[in-house]
Amino acid sequence: MLIRYDVIIVGGSFAGLAVASRLRGRVLLIDKDEIGEGQTSACGTLLGVPQRLGLMESVLHAQDALVFHLQGRTEVMHTRNQPFCTFDYGRFCRDFAGRLDVEMLRASAQRVDGDRVVTDRGTFAGTCIVDASGWRAILARSLRPDYADRRWMSYGIETEVVSRGDYLCFWYDPSLVPRGVQWFFPCGSHVRVGVASYAGDARLRGHLDLFAESLGVAKARIHGGYFPAGLREPVVGNLFVVGDAAGQCLPFTGEGIRPALYFGQACGDIVQAVVDGRLPLEQGYLRYRQFVSRHRWMYRVMALSQLALLRLPVPISSRLIGLICREPLRGRILPGYVRFADPRALIPLPPVVRQTANRQLVLATSEA
Ligand SMILES: Cc1cc2nc3c(=O)[nH]c(=O)nc-3n(C[C@H](O)[C@H](O)[C@H](O)COP(=O)(O)OP(=O)(O)OC[C@H]3O[C@@H](n4cnc5c(N)ncnc54)[C@H](O)[C@@H]3O)c2cc1C
Repeated sequence: MLIRYDVIIVGGSFAGLAVASRLRGRVLLIDKDEIGEGQTSACGTLLGVPQRLGLMESVLHAQDALVFHLQGRTEVMHTRNQPFCTFDYGRFCRDFAGRLDVEMLRASAQRVDGDRVVTDRGTFAGTCIVDASGWRAILARSLRPDYADRRWMSYGIETEVVSRGDYLCFWYDPSLVPRGVQWFFPCGSHVRVGVASYAGDARLRGHLDLFAESLGVAKARIHGGYFPAGLREPVVGNLFVVGDAAGQCLPFTGEGIRPALYFGQACGDIVQAVVDGRLPLEQGYLRYRQFVSRHRWMYRVMALSQLALLRLPVPISSRLIGLICREPLRGRILPGYVRFADPRALIPLPPVVRQTANRQLVLATSEA
């Protein structure tokens, strides 16, 4: 017997959890891993994000300045009104999932076939289907194989090591990594040390070795992957596409957590209106597309900034970053950047775990 859901979400990380947080009804959340496993990210974001969602237990470190190491100079950007933090990915996702009232299934989704999602553990039907499967966009690519174009993706890896630090630090210096960035993110008793290539060059291990060595830290287990640097169509066929799957990670800063949560909750609200019968499905697609479109300007600005960083002579790009770190530009640019996918627009999660929350789907009755 084929099990039918109001909504099927593929991907149980930031975007998928955010969509689920706005849904009632019969919802299936599918992920190939346990929720909270499979971290790719350095998990740096605005402190307002975990604060607003009620996930402060996951925060490892917070501070009110960002440090930029440029060729031959260092600049500090004070972010007093907009502190940044790092958090524990596993804790964040597990606590988030604990507030949801959905069925969960650990399975690898393979493709979408009309209103059905085909997985390695059976096929499930959904009135609304959401692809939140990250940069690979598993479902959307099953409809449009060219959907996730690697030309518009960056690539990054990082390692978490025992060490301490005060501030989130970035290095923009082509003599260290060409067309890329390096970072050092304190997270309690550890730091996350990483390297990314805006050109999507995946051969970064040597750069990470050298970087870790220069900081005097011993490299540990490595994680990472691609992250998109260009907005994709948010609706593909009958799919709502969210988070990295829809290219919603910001170019240049590579900040993808805040957008995934922000667009995820917005998408969830629209999907719920469809499920409730308040909005025809076609109108739901249109409304989500229009919502994402209203934010396109920010992606253009960030893509241009990334291009400028890569194309301008280093002394000029370094000088520009320096100017942005200081007044008067800082006071104009930082608040505008923060207002995009503003943490204050996130909807707090329900404070108590409902008894029915997080049912693991028993597969005995599903169609294999
Ligand atoms: C090295 C690195 C560092 C980064 N650092 C930061 C940072 O500090 N701050 C920031 O804001 N952003 C950062 N990013 C970007 C950020 O990680 C992403 O933008 C963010 O994770 C997007 O969330 P998502 O939910 O859309 O996708 P993901 O987090 O990629 O989640 C996708 C989910 O889908 C699941 N999935 C995938 N395929 C299938 C399948 N076939 N079947 C079932 N489930 C599937 C996965 O298991 C996963 O749980 C970084 C990225 C990288 C690579």
